[in-house]
Amino acid sequence: MATELSRGLQKLHELLRKLGEAEKTLSQGPRRISVAEKAVKAARDAIEAQKLEIKNSRKHADELNLKLRSKETDLVKLTGMLNQASSNKEYDIMKGQIQTAKGDQASIEEIALTAMEAADEIASALKGKEADLKQKEQHLKDVQAEVQAAEAGLKATIAELEAQVAQAETVLSAGDIRNAYGRLRLAHGAEALAAAEDSFCTSCSNKITTQDLVRMNTGTILLCRECGRILYVVD
Ligand SMILES: [Zn+2]
Repeated sequence: MATELSRGLQKLHELLRKLGEAEKTLSQGPRRISVAEKAVKAARDAIEAQKLEIKNSRKHADELNLKLRSKETDLVKLTGMLNQASSNKEYDIMKGQIQTAKGDQASIEEIALTAMEAADEIASALKGKEADLKQKEQHLKDVQAEVQAAEAGLKATIAELEAQVAQAETVLSAGDIRNAYGRLRLAHGAEALAAAEDSFCTSCSNKITTQDLVRMNTGTILLCRECGRILYVVD
């Protein structure tokens, strides 16, 4: 049978837990916003990187096209010279040069085509990244609105719980136990207290002696001999 003292300590423990939860939720708000902001920034950076890649790939494709045009000009020139060849030997040499130039042209053409395809692919990937940014920006707005909407309520809840905790703390008399409570709250937050269930500390599973249980049931506040928490007996 739990004493009134134990019930008072149990109530304090419950209130501390609720207060801890409310404080945690409140502190999570700015963190959630910061995570969402970082995601937006990463999406923006990805777009900038993509734009640079697009620029470079287009430049590469343009250079190849320029090279191709200059090969075409060479071919026209060589074909003109072929018609003016003064000997069979010269004609054969020209023919050979034209053949080589045609081969070069074909391979540059192929490379240029691949480069243009690659440039198109890189450019189309930008759309996906822009859609991703939009989604991340919307998410940030949602999180901001959600956090802002919850903030006032949470602050009111915390103020109310703090008042209730202060009231419940009166179960602890001034002196050693009050000092121990102060230290334990700093170290363990809401878990400054622990229930004793079936003669065991629920925080560290240490067995509580019969003698200690008797003392607790006759109005003494005890700290667990193992983990140091303030113990209370539950039914
Ligand atoms: Zn313990």
